Amino acid sequence: MNCPVCNRPLKSKKSIERGIGPVCEVKVKKLENEPPKGQLSFVEETVLVIK
Ligand SMILES: [Zn+2]
Repeated sequence: MNCPVCNRPLKSKKSIERGIGPVCEVKVKKLENEPPKGQLSFVEETVLVIK
């Protein structure tokens, strides 16, 4: 399984369970709070993958 954000393989069990790497998870959470213009569709796609 790969991280949907950076497309790198997820190594830890936690990351695999969450479906996202720890660094990208933080990034996505920040984006959710403050979605920058032009990246909104990207964020929505990522959120769908996580849920
Ligand atoms: Zn990632």
